[in-house]
Amino acid sequence: MSVLVTGGAGYIGSHMVLALNDAGEDVVVLDNLSTGFPWAVAEPAKLVIGDIGDQALVRELIETEKVEAIIHFAGSIVVPDSIADPLGYYLNNTCKSRALIECAVDAGVKHFIFSSTAAVYGMPEENPVSEEAALNPISPYGSSKLMTEMMLRDTALAFPLNYVALRYFNVAGADPEGRSGQSTPRATHLIKVAVQAALGERPKLDVFGTDYPTPDGTCIRDYIHVSDLVAAHLAALRYLRDGGRSEVINCGYGNGYSVFQVIEAVKRVSGVDFPVETVPRRPGDPAALVAGVERIGKLLGWVPQRDDLDQIVADALGWEKHLNAHRDAS
Ligand code: UDP
Repeated sequence: MSVLVTGGAGYIGSHMVLALNDAGEDVVVLDNLSTGFPWAVAEPAKLVIGDIGDQALVRELIETEKVEAIIHFAGSIVVPDSIADPLGYYLNNTCKSRALIECAVDAGVKHFIFSSTAAVYGMPEENPVSEEAALNPISPYGSSKLMTEMMLRDTALAFPLNYVALRYFNVAGADPEGRSGQSTPRATHLIKVAVQAALGERPKLDVFGTDYPTPDGTCIRDYIHVSDLVAAHLAALRYLRDGGRSEVINCGYGNGYSVFQVIEAVKRVSGVDFPVETVPRRPGDPAALVAGVERIGKLLGWVPQRDDLDQIVADALGWEKHLNAHRDAS
């Protein structure tokens, strides 16, 4: 029996593979390498290069590898790109997820864990946001993920497939042992971009808006260490194997930091006072987005191990330095 990790050559997927390897699971990765890297898939996990929408390939893989559970990371994640290319996002995140879920159902795969997002909440009226809050995505990205949640909900009612959809807040950091990290060159996420500014890879950091209704005027987000995030997936897998029923669960720490607080942390940890410029708001940013965390604790027994902004920044910085050294050497 094995666990199929789609998107396992990407940022979060590669950390999942490390955690599954460490837990002694048999792992097979399916990744089309559109944004992932083959070297990011740690052995003994097996990498199959291909597309989750290729049903013939997926069916064969499920059969030959005796796949018992699927952890589905493969997808597109850049919100502004989804606004420019909505149909591409619905294809990748919705249609191809449908194709994958159909293969899972047909082959009798028991468990399915899905990477969803806090973007399904849109502009929440209250923080922390509970899973019961209104679902009003404001980008094609958020809508494409919410549609997959809905497909899973309805499929799990009709067939013996149990699922957990994990709604990620702001995932950041890197493997504390330095084995993986966020490697995509076209990064947009705050901690990654700030770390790049600290290392002189970009001339400055833009702060998108300082006129939000928050204490310092910048947006507040719940940053979760990628290692804690993948630990939540392992806990979800255990939960499903123990007969837990299908659920949608927030993944965050339940506390937030402002953009200015993140910048301070990156300056403090790196020791570099890089240039910061204030620019107008970026469209579609909610003022605050902090996870309600009652459910994840209660259902999965998950306890954060790395709820420390400086630690998240230090790990992200360590990986960025590793990437630079690698780049310089090649
Ligand atoms: N942000 C910023 N400058 C950047 C990147 C992000 O000011 O170069 C802000 C962004 O407007 C948001 C927060 O940082 O308020 C987190 O953004 P990110 O893109 O990391 O994640 P999101 O919350 O959009 O998923």
